[in-house]
Amino acid sequence: MSVATQHKLLPEVEAFLSQSPLASFVGGEHFPNARGNLIATIDPGSGEKIADIHDLDAAEIDRAVDIASEAFPAWSGMSQAERSSILLKLADAVEERKPIIAQIEALDAGKIESQAAGDVQNFADTLRYFVGLAGKIDKRTKLDVPGHEAWTVKQPWGACAFIFPWNFPFLLIGWGISPALAAGNTVVIKPAEDTSLSAIYLAQLAKEIGVPDGVINVVTGRGATAGAALTNNNKIKRMSFTGSPEVGQLVGEACGRNLVPVKLELGGKGAAVVFDDVDVKATAEALVGAITFHTGQVCCDATRWLIHNDVYDEFVGHCKELMEKVKIGHPLDPNSEMGPVVNPKQRERVLGYQEKGTAEGAECLCGGGTATVDGFEGNYVKPTLLGGSLDNVAAREEIFGPVAYVTAFNTEDEAIAMANDTDYGLANSVWTADSERANRVAEAMVAGNSWINAHNVFAHGVPYGGVNKSGVGGGVLSIETLMDYYRSTSVVRPSE
Ligand code: NAD
Repeated sequence: MSVATQHKLLPEVEAFLSQSPLASFVGGEHFPNARGNLIATIDPGSGEKIADIHDLDAAEIDRAVDIASEAFPAWSGMSQAERSSILLKLADAVEERKPIIAQIEALDAGKIESQAAGDVQNFADTLRYFVGLAGKIDKRTKLDVPGHEAWTVKQPWGACAFIFPWNFPFLLIGWGISPALAAGNTVVIKPAEDTSLSAIYLAQLAKEIGVPDGVINVVTGRGATAGAALTNNNKIKRMSFTGSPEVGQLVGEACGRNLVPVKLELGGKGAAVVFDDVDVKATAEALVGAITFHTGQVCCDATRWLIHNDVYDEFVGHCKELMEKVKIGHPLDPNSEMGPVVNPKQRERVLGYQEKGTAEGAECLCGGGTATVDGFEGNYVKPTLLGGSLDNVAAREEIFGPVAYVTAFNTEDEAIAMANDTDYGLANSVWTADSERANRVAEAMVAGNSWINAHNVFAHGVPYGGVNKSGVGGGVLSIETLMDYYRSTSVVRPSE
């Protein structure tokens, strides 16, 4: 049964999808692939095609970068107040269109519609946050250097490029481009080939509300061609990549060759360290909630659950009960608590790790395998809990699905060593009623982010980024991120 039959689409969503094949949007215009090469966009919840997008080639990507570069002088030359007022109008327009963008995102990325609405709101809030910060920055800093009159001045860089993954398509665009635009840069966005629709909608909306042509450009296409062309373009002044460590390395290499500054926000294999003084049931609820949120396709998820031996059995018992109750369904069904994974390849990856993990000796404590949702041929899998030793492949590598790996510890030092025994370093959490122990463990875990008695905590103003295999060169969501989008010139006049 078709999605449209089971779940009525908004007329605005129908109208947007009826533009299919949807072209990229560059310089304020539809920007198709000249040879008509297309990529099918599939609803992960039903397996049905919802639209086609254009698959741009390298020459077209280069043209888009030229157009973004040509738009830079006028955009950066505007007063901060004028630029801010345009961007705030965009934030308002995104918020007004929240139901439309959320439905597009739910259909395209397999995201539960209410969660997609949260992502859209987060985009608007992020844009407002960075516009507010940019308005307060003093662009000239006087330097107190004897014998010299000296200062530094901050300037935007030019055309900045952004390559995004498929798990939080719209929210991550907000996190990425907001500081760049607020600082006066122009942007070229390359969304993931599976989830490009909300980016195209954004570019069309930006045109409609008066963002100058060429300031926000969206180019669609495959990673190995369109993405690689963007990373190889030496007219890009800054590159930001969010995705897997494997592709991050390729992007870093290309930027290194061209001496383009690059931010890499990569994968994770976070730990949750649970001590024996917690409310065990409430902690199990929070962690099961986190691993099933967006079907576990969350880079900062806690996927290694390290549980104090004295509460291990009780914790696992609650988890099994909670995981079995999760309502799996189509993202547009208001009763669904967990949707599908993004595509059949990702489902095979998730199932493959379950198989490899159990073959290496992990015990499947709950779930495992595919799930069925009546009336839909989507990429559904069951929430799964594996248990065993941490040298297992399923405990070491990023799975990117609703699969957690649980093991027991006895002492604080042992727990910290287990949490840090990973190549990644994105986000961990510690759960305990002892606030001193919480602070100690939070600071001892090697990662960009440590959370206490919570997991997946984001607030504008708190920097979020990774270390080691999880990221290089920055982070998002804070004043430092805005500063990344200014270059600095020092100006010196020797005193007479
Ligand atoms: P991916 O690395 O396969 O793809 C990401 C993007 O890179 C896509 O747009 C893709 O088209 C493009 N790409 C692919 N090959 C390329 C190439 N050779 N050159 C340039 N671009 C290329 O990642 P994915 O599967 O889309 O996303 C999942 C990964 O993203 C996970 O590892 C996850 O942890 C990570 N992630 C990290 C964060 C963070 O903030 N640290 C946030 C979300 C996702």
